[in-house]
Amino acid sequence: MTAPLRLTHLIDGQAVLDAGASTLPVFEPATGQAYAACPTGADGDVQAAVCAAQAAFPAWSGLSNDARARWLQRLADALEARVEEFAQAESRDGGKPLKLARDVEIPRAVENLRFFASAATQFASESHHGQAGLNYTLRQPLGVVGCISPWNLPLYLFTWKIAPALAAGNCVVAKPSEVTPVSAWMLGELARDIGFPAGVLNIVQGLGSTVGKALVEHPQVKAVSFTGSTAVGRQIAAHCGPALKKTSLELGGKNATLVFADAFADATQRERLLDTVVRAAFQNSGQICLCGSRILIERRVYESFRDAFVARVRALRCGDPLDPHTDLGPLVSHAHREKVLACIELVRAEGGHVLCGGEVLHVEGRCQGGWFVAPTVIDGLGPDCRSNTEEIFGPVVTLQAFDDDDHALALANAAPYGLSASVWTQRLDRAHRLAAQLRVGIVWIDTWLLRDLRTPFGGIGQSGMGREGGLEAMRFFTEPKNVCLRID
Ligand code: NAD
Repeated sequence: MTAPLRLTHLIDGQAVLDAGASTLPVFEPATGQAYAACPTGADGDVQAAVCAAQAAFPAWSGLSNDARARWLQRLADALEARVEEFAQAESRDGGKPLKLARDVEIPRAVENLRFFASAATQFASESHHGQAGLNYTLRQPLGVVGCISPWNLPLYLFTWKIAPALAAGNCVVAKPSEVTPVSAWMLGELARDIGFPAGVLNIVQGLGSTVGKALVEHPQVKAVSFTGSTAVGRQIAAHCGPALKKTSLELGGKNATLVFADAFADATQRERLLDTVVRAAFQNSGQICLCGSRILIERRVYESFRDAFVARVRALRCGDPLDPHTDLGPLVSHAHREKVLACIELVRAEGGHVLCGGEVLHVEGRCQGGWFVAPTVIDGLGPDCRSNTEEIFGPVVTLQAFDDDDHALALANAAPYGLSASVWTQRLDRAHRLAAQLRVGIVWIDTWLLRDLRTPFGGIGQSGMGREGGLEAMRFFTEPKNVCLRID
């Protein structure tokens, strides 16, 4: 037996073992076997990381924007040189198909670092003339900031937060998910290897309820950028509100996909529509906050859409994430699979019809101990039942029929979340009218998950507060200060 991989924190440029010397097992979801040990983390680790970040702040924030951009570019270069290694690690850690990690997620982490390296050199502030003197706005970094990320897109979301924070001149204490800690640990090792300035980027591993909480509550942490569940987002808001601490909360989703008859009836578009709607439903086994888990279909094509959709879902290949033909891997943890199975039981209790899936999937060979659930399609449930209002975050989607635009809008807006929606129609007037009326932060028309990193990213309602991406992120990680000069 090989010894488990032993992960460390990155504090003040050093690999540090856990202050309490205890560890958490890290599992490979495809096999159900533990293969690494992650520090449990303790208040002392957070304290040490915040101290290191505070000490590094004057020098880092005093660098020219160019110099900070060069450090981010160097980190991006180092990561790009090892895409395959990181993709293998993420696939093993989270159970995602290797091709998804290799072709999409790790390259996107590289892109995040490069994008915000450019942002450091492009970011500008406003000036106001003519009304009362000459006013200009300084955009100053906040100091030490906390970045907390989830398990579903581990390095992609980790870099999406740390890159703008660093580009804007802050020093960071980041906490990846304890469920998928490996790629953030590897990035910390890369930062050490390239001599990234000590204390500027600190990575504290461990449990959310202790390390994450200590980070959020540390008085020297000036802002918290959090992506994760709505329940934890609420706890963070409950602390940061009274403490008057800046927060960005990117939380859960229960996103609608609206399919109109005109789009589905067009034979030239139908294949692309079906491919994309299936991908939107099941990419990463439905474990993406933007997945379209409520599919709304115009009634006159409901049955033909349902049959074509279910046939495609049945054809999805579920199994070993290392197999290049695999479309869906396992769920990320045993506990998460149990949660998803309980949601499927609830579907049945609520009177829903399981059109396909609805059960544990047994995979032979290497993955026989893995945490698989067959992709599941449900119909027969109304908009108010829990299966249509609560996030499942797994390979489970519901179908509902609508009669006209108003009905479609009412169904789409019936969930308490408001992250994204995708609208499939050939009528531009309808698409734009719905885009304006959908209560979400992001609308896709005729597509899904097409991303320009300059655009505002985030949701409303139970999907969170604040926006990431482009200038929004640079603004979040800086404080504006107006300077007014009297001019006679
Ligand atoms: P989670 O809320 O359980 O954990 C997220 C992170 O918060 C982890 O690093 C965890 O250790 C930490 N944490 C847990 N308790 C904490 C506490 N009390 N204080 C501080 N930190 C704490 O979420 P998860 O299960 O890792 O991720 C899945 C959720 O994330 C889903 O709800 C999904 O929709 C959401 N998500 C949202 C977006 C978005 O951009 N809106 C993107 C990805 C995932």
